[in-house]
Amino acid sequence: MQWKPTTHRLFFRCLAGALIGCIAGVVGSSAQSPTQSPTRSPAQIRFRSETRDVVERRLKSFSTKNSEREALIRKWFAESGCKEANLSEEALDRKLPPNVICVLPGETRQVIVVGAHTDKVDSFGDGVVDNWTGAALLPSLLYSLSARPRHHTLIFVGFSGEEKGLVGSQYYVDHLTDEQRAHIEGVVNFDSLGLGPTEVWASHADKALLDALGRVAYASKLQVTAMNVPEGATADSESFARYHIPRITLHSVTQKTWPILHSPFDKMAAIKMNDYYDSYKLIAEYLAYLDDSLKPAAARAEKAAH
Ligand SMILES: [Zn+2]
Repeated sequence: MQWKPTTHRLFFRCLAGALIGCIAGVVGSSAQSPTQSPTRSPAQIRFRSETRDVVERRLKSFSTKNSEREALIRKWFAESGCKEANLSEEALDRKLPPNVICVLPGETRQVIVVGAHTDKVDSFGDGVVDNWTGAALLPSLLYSLSARPRHHTLIFVGFSGEEKGLVGSQYYVDHLTDEQRAHIEGVVNFDSLGLGPTEVWASHADKALLDALGRVAYASKLQVTAMNVPEGATADSESFARYHIPRITLHSVTQKTWPILHSPFDKMAAIKMNDYYDSYKLIAEYLAYLDDSLKPAAARAEKAAH
C-alpha cells in the first residue's frame, strides 16, 4: 500500500467513514446469476495446492533490501516451474530494482495479470506485511495454476517501486501495446495480507471480478469481506484502472491494523499464519475460477467505443 504522508490525518478520518459505509459483510451470493454462461462452479475448480510449510517458509525468508526481495521472487519463480524463456526482468527508468515477470502460457491470447509489489517502504519495519506477504505468494500461485492447461495466459508480476508512487506497475502497463492492454481481462493484485482474514477493496474493484470472488469464497467457505482502504491510499491495481482494465485488490487491513503499515510493527510478529494460508488458498482457487469463467472483453471494447 502506498500513500502520501500529508494525507495521514485525513486518511484516518476517512477510514472511520469507510468502515461505517463500506463493510458489506461477506461478499457475494450463493446463486449463480441466470444470465451467466455455463462454466464450472467454483466447487469444481481444481488447482494444485502448495503446502503450508512452503508458503510459511517463503514468508519467513524475507529480506529488508528491495533488490534481494526481487531476486528471491525471481529464484522462486524458477523453482516453481517458470521456464527460463518465460521468466524476465523489466528494467525501470529510475534506480530501482526491476519488475520481475513470469508468463504462464494459456490456450488463448486473453490474459490475466497477477500482481504484487516486491518493495518495502524505505524506513520503518521489515515490510513483511507490506508487501512481502503478497510478493512471496506469487511463486506459490504460479505453482498452483501450472498444474493444468489454462484458457488464459497468466502473467505473474512482482512490481518494483510501489512505495515510490506505483512506479513499477505504471511502467509495466504504460509500456504494453494497445493490443496487449486490450487482451488483459483482469488484474488481480494483492497487498498487505496476513493481518487477518482476506479483505477486498470493493469500491475500487471491477464488478465482475468482485462477483466471481464472492462465488469462490462462498463455495470454498473461505472468508472475504469488503473493506475499502482510506482516501489517499492506493495500490498497483490503480495503474491499470487508468486504462480501464478491470482490476481488484485483495488485502487484510482493517481500521485496527492499518497503523501497522509503514511502522516499526510491520514485522513477522504481526502475521496470523492461519489467515495468511487461507488467503493463499482463496486466491489460488479464485485464479483457477477466473481462468475458467472470465470471458473476452468484447463488451468492454464496445463500451469504450461509445
Ligand atoms: Zn505500503
